Amino acid sequence: MWAWLFARHHGGKFILRIEDTDQKRFDPNALQTLMEALRWIGIDWDEGPEVGGDYGPYVQSERLEHYQQWARWLVDNGHAYYCYCSSERLAEVNKQKQAAGLPSGYDRRCRFASPQEIEQLAAECAAEGRKPVVRLKMPLEGETRFNDLVRGEVVFENKDVQDAVLLKADGFPTYHLAVVIDDYLMGITHITRAIEWLPSAPLHVTLWRAFGWEMPQYAHLPVMLNPNGKGKMSKRNPPRDAKGNIIPVMVHDYINGGYLPEALANFLIGVGWSFGDEREVFSVPEAIERFGDFSRISPANSALPAEKLEWLNGVYIREQLSLEDLAKRLKKPLQEAGLTVDDARLLKVAPIVQTRIRTLNDVVAMAGFFFHDTFKPPTAEQVIQKKMDAAITYRALEEAIPLLETVEPFTLEALHTVFSDLGQMLSLSNSQMFGVLRVAVTGQTVSTPTFETMEILGREETIARLRTVLGLL
Ligand code: ZN
Repeated sequence: MWAWLFARHHGGKFILRIEDTDQKRFDPNALQTLMEALRWIGIDWDEGPEVGGDYGPYVQSERLEHYQQWARWLVDNGHAYYCYCSSERLAEVNKQKQAAGLPSGYDRRCRFASPQEIEQLAAECAAEGRKPVVRLKMPLEGETRFNDLVRGEVVFENKDVQDAVLLKADGFPTYHLAVVIDDYLMGITHITRAIEWLPSAPLHVTLWRAFGWEMPQYAHLPVMLNPNGKGKMSKRNPPRDAKGNIIPVMVHDYINGGYLPEALANFLIGVGWSFGDEREVFSVPEAIERFGDFSRISPANSALPAEKLEWLNGVYIREQLSLEDLAKRLKKPLQEAGLTVDDARLLKVAPIVQTRIRTLNDVVAMAGFFFHDTFKPPTAEQVIQKKMDAAITYRALEEAIPLLETVEPFTLEALHTVFSDLGQMLSLSNSQMFGVLRVAVTGQTVSTPTFETMEILGREETIARLRTVLGLL
């Protein structure tokens, strides 16, 4: 999201590239889901799948010839070498290193073998039906430094860095090789990626230098941690909120959960980045305006502020949506709950739920009753309010009916006055009197307010409902 804001701020191009070279982990359905999620939240791309561009294809598995060609170039020019070791040998090397208390990793046998030894190893490898991998010749001493846009100058000791595999035996590149070649060929100027890639950065810097290409700018960004601050958010091990409920990590869970794309965008942009002026609520265009550099990003990983999204979503529903827009968005959850939605009625319901719901889905529990085919009456216990009994509750409803028949006009204000007076006459507080009426007309204890609801239902429907409830008491 930040990379997109940065590109949009500078009038640059935002590129969507699909890195699918880890064939074991790649799920083709995931790509469609990912693109849907990006579009839903408002991220568009200037080049990439479904959009095209001058530097395609934008799917790495369709670019294998580039990687193979440049891997050969690296070997031919002394920056990389073929490694013929079997996975069994690599495992054995690691075991021995561990036993000797050394850090694990490849022992560089094939880098330093004599030409005769290489010939022998190559022959064995071929006889076993295996292909060699290509490994980077990482400098053995000295340091690799580069300037990170979030972290400033970063320094690595070369001796701590492995001769990483660049091209695998199956002809697929690793991330290290593919990302550098693609970033070069696609003319990338700025790379933003998660902090967990920082340890690989010296490999990439070494590759840029080996190729003799001008290196883009790197920004290694903080990641979102679980709400308790421990561990990175992951879908395999989903985080939980203070009450122990699972917090979804996939955008689709938020789409289905009744969240607004505007609120989720605001939320995601704000975790680890500050808008300034202590502002928590800002639009995407406002964030683009401010996102000229990476200086407002905190380098440290931040814990997910689990409650903030729901709060923000409520703010957007209350303050940012017109009633027409809100009504349009409420239709989907109501329909998905199996209700037949009348648009004119929904437009009347929208203002009375607007200040009371925090997700769009909340409308179903609170105001779904407006769209039931037949009235589902409450139980007697639900209608009877605090410090009341069945007799006085019955009386309140009984007296209410003739008043509903005659009150003019049938509006919120007039109803309020009439029933306030009735409550007084029966020695009931407004909360008791209005509570009885509210549960009676809505059929539920948590619902929209009494007189607004009556106004929408209309005189006849309101009276019919009270009569039904009266029969139950
Ligand atoms: Zn080897």
